[in-house]
Amino acid sequence: MTIKGIGINAHSSRIDGDLKILERDLAHFEELGFDYVEIPVDGVDGVIGGRLNVKNIKKVQGALRKFHLKATIHAPGPLCLREGDFDLYGKVFKSSINFTWHLGAEILVYHGGSFGTFKRAKSMIKSQQALHERKEAEALKSLSDFAAERGVRICIENGAYPIEDLVRLVRTVDRKNVGITYDFGHGFLFYRCYGTEEDFLESIKKASPYLEHVHIHDNFGRLTPEFVNDPLHDPYLCRLAFGEGDLHLPPGMGRIPYGKIIPLLSDYEGVALMEIDPRHRDRYPQARVMVERLFGYSRDSIQVREGGNLGEQQTQPLAQDVPGARATPILTEAQSAVPLHTETQGEPTDSSMSTHKLTRGRDDLQ
Ligand SMILES: [Zn+2]
Repeated sequence: MTIKGIGINAHSSRIDGDLKILERDLAHFEELGFDYVEIPVDGVDGVIGGRLNVKNIKKVQGALRKFHLKATIHAPGPLCLREGDFDLYGKVFKSSINFTWHLGAEILVYHGGSFGTFKRAKSMIKSQQALHERKEAEALKSLSDFAAERGVRICIENGAYPIEDLVRLVRTVDRKNVGITYDFGHGFLFYRCYGTEEDFLESIKKASPYLEHVHIHDNFGRLTPEFVNDPLHDPYLCRLAFGEGDLHLPPGMGRIPYGKIIPLLSDYEGVALMEIDPRHRDRYPQARVMVERLFGYSRDSIQVREGGNLGEQQTQPLAQDVPGARATPILTEAQSAVPLHTETQGEPTDSSMSTHKLTRGRDDLQ
């Protein structure tokens, strides 16, 4: 197994549309030695009303150019191709693909299937479920072609449902640029509640031929009644005390058997992406070291000391000699101070962007 690097999520609620927070977090992630950051489309207001937010894309580009971090992208959480307003969801999806393309990223994570609640999906009659599956597969076929033209890979993330459902969806879509993001936290929760640890490990084996991306975090394998990730109805603080739900803890803090998972990933060549709630950000350094060891990954230019607290880590020098690091031009004030302009699909029409050829890669965008 040769992974591309170790990544961390930029948390949607933490950023909450404030790109200065994003930039501060990027600086911190780089300081801690991460190689990748997963940018949430919704956290940076990358899409508004189904249309690409060019102004914010340029700001995110500018922020990324200051660091050596490479990006993967997470589509808005509620995006669903199974039911609801398909026209609007299609637009949001296409704009998310364009967002990924404009940031020079390849991976776009999408919460596929009946992501929200397993109970709700179970309550549907089979014909209803089959219809939803067909609609999602058809939509993904067309969207994956749109993504392929932009060099974007759609990586569908598992939720609280059997992995066979997701494998079936990926096989039905049958496109080279559509694969699986296996979220170990979600898989562990589901199989601890509706199966066994063996079923969980088996599910990873079943997903592995289609595995393009992983989400690493931890929990105690105890589901809240509905497995709803809704802070209004299910506040994180309430669940943390009881060790219930999709807690997104640093690996090692819960009960997910990563020692048994890693040997199943021998063919994996993607990013080891940690998806941790920023409440636990003081544990990022130790979590990164743990993932580094689990995956047998080493990055010569960065020395992270195990067990160091955040204060110690913050005093480390920035990485200046990352192999293959690109130049980091920064958007000028004039370039970034453009009025909010949105687009529907395809090329942005904002005048300051359209003067530049929009080819693949972040460095091509000015
Ligand atoms: Zn995830």
